Amino acid sequence: MAGRARFELWTSSMSIKGQVFEHALLRKRIMRKETCPILVLLIVIIAVVVLYMQSGGNSNDPSLFDNEGRYDSSNLNYMGVIYTDQADILGWSGGYSESDNCPWGAVHNGLDFGFNNESIVIAAAPGFVEEISWTDTGPADNVYMIHVSIRFNETIQIGYVFEPWTTDSSGVDRQIEMLDIEEGDWVAKGDTLGEFLKLGISAHIHFAVYDGEATCPQPFFSDEAYIEIMSLVHSYQPTWNLCYP
Ligand SMILES: [Zn+2]
Repeated sequence: MAGRARFELWTSSMSIKGQVFEHALLRKRIMRKETCPILVLLIVIIAVVVLYMQSGGNSNDPSLFDNEGRYDSSNLNYMGVIYTDQADILGWSGGYSESDNCPWGAVHNGLDFGFNNESIVIAAAPGFVEEISWTDTGPADNVYMIHVSIRFNETIQIGYVFEPWTTDSSGVDRQIEMLDIEEGDWVAKGDTLGEFLKLGISAHIHFAVYDGEATCPQPFFSDEAYIEIMSLVHSYQPTWNLCYP
């Protein structure tokens, strides 16, 4: 009996020693598993910093926007019109409205310029071409829209939506080919963005100013440009304002 008890004691101490040994091995394995993700994370952080520095500081974060002294971005109060000749605009059907209490009876977050085919479209303000993209808005007369987004400063971004008014998808490529700009370009006020492709009767450019959210463009125009745009509006709609609350 005594011999058997001693034997059991011996095996249990062996197994305790075995467990301790196994724990040590396990800890080593865990440490290896922990070091691996930390290394990957470090490599990713270094890569992001290097890429950010190469991009000249213009990341997708608007708060880091830097125009590197190209123009005065402190206050946009010198915006121009987006056409070179008032005769290129064939109609005025809608300005900016925050409710349906306006002549066109619907909320509309921008100004619609009914450009003639192949008319020159110019930049209303300087900025960085953040995005050129297109959308398929589904079954309608006006399916394809080409979006050009130009950032002026940390908060103000200007959108030019080219609406050729077509259900033919080839209109997207044709309109993009008629643009003189690419994503990543800097434009000055008055620079040519491209020519307008008019394929349908109601083709136009939807022009919108975003200051956080879409806002009435009126305060951003220079006095001269505001007089010019109101002479355009009143040539088609003698009693209309540019914006309605
Ligand atoms: Zn519009």
